[in-house]
Amino acid sequence: MTFRDQVARIAPPVAGLLLAACTTAAPQANSPQIPTASPVGIAATPRPEVATPSPTAIPPPMTGDALASLVDAPAMLAHLEALQAIADDHGRHRATGSAGFEASAAYVAGVLRSAGYDVERQPFEVDGVASVNLLVDQPGAAGDEVVALGAHLDSVFAGPGINDNGSGVAALLVIAEQLRQLPAPRRTVRFAFWGAEEGGPFGSPAYVDELDPAELARITAYLNFDMLGSPNAVRFVYDEAEAAPGSQQLTDLFAATIEDGGLPWEPIDLEGDSDHGPFTQAGIPTGGLFSGGIEPVTDAQAALFGARAGEPADECSHRACDTLDNVDLATLEEMTRIIARVLVALAVP
Ligand SMILES: [Zn+2]
Repeated sequence: MTFRDQVARIAPPVAGLLLAACTTAAPQANSPQIPTASPVGIAATPRPEVATPSPTAIPPPMTGDALASLVDAPAMLAHLEALQAIADDHGRHRATGSAGFEASAAYVAGVLRSAGYDVERQPFEVDGVASVNLLVDQPGAAGDEVVALGAHLDSVFAGPGINDNGSGVAALLVIAEQLRQLPAPRRTVRFAFWGAEEGGPFGSPAYVDELDPAELARITAYLNFDMLGSPNAVRFVYDEAEAAPGSQQLTDLFAATIEDGGLPWEPIDLEGDSDHGPFTQAGIPTGGLFSGGIEPVTDAQAALFGARAGEPADECSHRACDTLDNVDLATLEEMTRIIARVLVALAVP
């Protein structure tokens, strides 16, 4: 979005004030000439187009709308198709310790490197079986606070794990790819792709355990995404009784962002049962989104979210049928755009 588009979205009286303020500032010697029209005239009449942008032009600030508009279903579908193809080529699963998991990790690392990130591989073992976490940072422009987002990369042995959790992986990949192209956020944004969540988690605790207290203290929030495209979806926002102080603000931020879009949501307490658990235990505020698992959708949820009552949100969870066909792309895109807006609100305060 251009700066002019943003100004256009501001109510005219505010835009008038902004532009009036601009015209009262003392012009710099090398600044472009500002037309001497009245503030009302400027607000009502677009300034003439500049044919060629100046190479020294200040890039527009990152906005939630800008990042959200850049993440879309076709990009996510491409990542889901890649993960499905990997499962198809490796015994129809991507479980920790298998060639399918290793191929998944190689794929994600390749996407991140292509986007311009330095990928950190953190190897660890689960009962003698090797696995790995992948981590990348988009460095912040000020301070050293970190906003971390994570999704588990492994599937169960029973199936390809495309909703659980190819969906979370695809969401974070498309956000990471687009974020890399935008002006630096204020806070560092860290993306984590965890090995060995199924049956654990083991990857996220391995990461948290290895952080020294100073590194741990840098992380101001951890956001977890484990199943975002359930075919009979409910829009759940993490709201956990045992979450660390500060988590309520994250729940509130997700809720406000969703309500801004005119959509309903419902709180859920997963009791730390995914990769956010180790962060909770370390005292780090946590939040997240979840589109629902094997629990049947209630009548009230069905009415609120347009889902089918009495059926699971995802009846293929942890089964062979958790394939590409098991992901509702519209739901995944909508959830990913909520994440984008929340991320910008946290990282560009
Ligand atoms: Zn999962």
